[in-house]
Amino acid sequence: MNKYIEEVLEKLGKENADQPEFLQAAKEVLESLEPIITKNEEKYRSQKLLEKLTVPNEIHMFDVSWLDDKGVEHVNKGYRVQFNNAVGVYKGGLRLHPTVNLSVLKFLGFEQCFKNALTGLPMGGAKGGSDFDPKGKSDNEVRNFCIAFTDKLYPFVGVGKDVPAGDIGTGAREIRFIGEEYLKKTGSLGGAFTGKPLDMGGSLVRTEATGYGLVYFTEEMLKKHGKDFKDKTVVVTGSGNVAIYAAEKAAQLGAIVVGCCDSTGWIYDEKGLDLAVLKDLKEVKRARLSEYPLAAGRGIYHEGKGIWNIKCDIYLPCATQNELDLEGAKTLVANGCFAVCEGANMPTTLEATKYLQEHGVYFAPGKASNAGGVSCSYLEMEQNAANESWSFEKTDARLKEIMVGIFHNLDEAAKDVGMEDNYVVGANIAGFKIIVDAMEQKGLL
Ligand code: GLU
Repeated sequence: MNKYIEEVLEKLGKENADQPEFLQAAKEVLESLEPIITKNEEKYRSQKLLEKLTVPNEIHMFDVSWLDDKGVEHVNKGYRVQFNNAVGVYKGGLRLHPTVNLSVLKFLGFEQCFKNALTGLPMGGAKGGSDFDPKGKSDNEVRNFCIAFTDKLYPFVGVGKDVPAGDIGTGAREIRFIGEEYLKKTGSLGGAFTGKPLDMGGSLVRTEATGYGLVYFTEEMLKKHGKDFKDKTVVVTGSGNVAIYAAEKAAQLGAIVVGCCDSTGWIYDEKGLDLAVLKDLKEVKRARLSEYPLAAGRGIYHEGKGIWNIKCDIYLPCATQNELDLEGAKTLVANGCFAVCEGANMPTTLEATKYLQEHGVYFAPGKASNAGGVSCSYLEMEQNAANESWSFEKTDARLKEIMVGIFHNLDEAAKDVGMEDNYVVGANIAGFKIIVDAMEQKGLL
């Protein structure tokens, strides 16, 4: 291991001992940058480059106090981690989930810098959210929370500064509540948030974008290896918008998508998931997946974890960080799976990633393969700035073009350092180069 990388990781480890997710993300990125760091070690050391890359520019933390339907007050923690804006305005989602803490948001913000750079679009990286859990809350309670959250968040964000969007637990409903309050506080909304409902200036394809983008990326990667989705057995994990629309696009390309899951269990549907039923359960009824077999008239529900036990050719983890561990990876390989492409942020543990790569599985890291969401967010910002609303076809075509471009960027970057087909190295090096160039140009190094 390169000495400079080792020193920075050691220091990070000491200073952030209580932040395992952040340390995991930093380790994955820094270690894979070894070829390029070793080549320029002296320069980067004197610039304190790695130190600057791994400390967020600003962290905003605040309390969020809101009333439930019984009039009882609750207090949650709110955050916005503005990691790096050398490449462009801070950009990244707001996660609402009980697991949210500073470690998770620093990991997500750090990843977002590389992801956004890889799109080739001028966006820096940020992430925010709260440990508030929208699950089981009434619309009114979610609104109360979003209003209180926005009252604390609004001074830090805005057009040309920081443009938040959705993430786990934050969909069009939450962005509506947040956007309405932001408008009240500041007098204008414009493109201050993305993932907006259409009537507030949202973009077509934004809901589908991460899932579709994942499949466009995967399709391009498979093409390079003489493969495609046709007649392949696919498993998606999760059942939010990433999973649902990855399943939809994969099915459109001829795949049979036989499984998905939520936090309580997983579905195996040998004939291929009934997406109309899945959308109704998850997007309309906000129900549990355990209701799928009855609603679809087919499929088997299994309680608990273990979706990786389904035999498949292509596995698309679209739920959350560290959902796929070494045991899962071993089972996938034993069952003949040849591609794992991440739809969520860092859903595969470091050990599982290594195992998959060592066993010849084509592996795409989320910071590249799930960049469709943020790419479409940029298209939403473009439409807002020009006062336009593009058709579904035009937006979808731009999205596909961006995803195909990302694949080739990282494919080239991996080849350049003699590690062809290692898309983890390719993504980190390609993103790193763009960020470092921008920091240099802005005199930040
Ligand atoms: N939350 C998404 C992501 O992880 C989208 C962010 C955005 O659109 O700004 O990339």
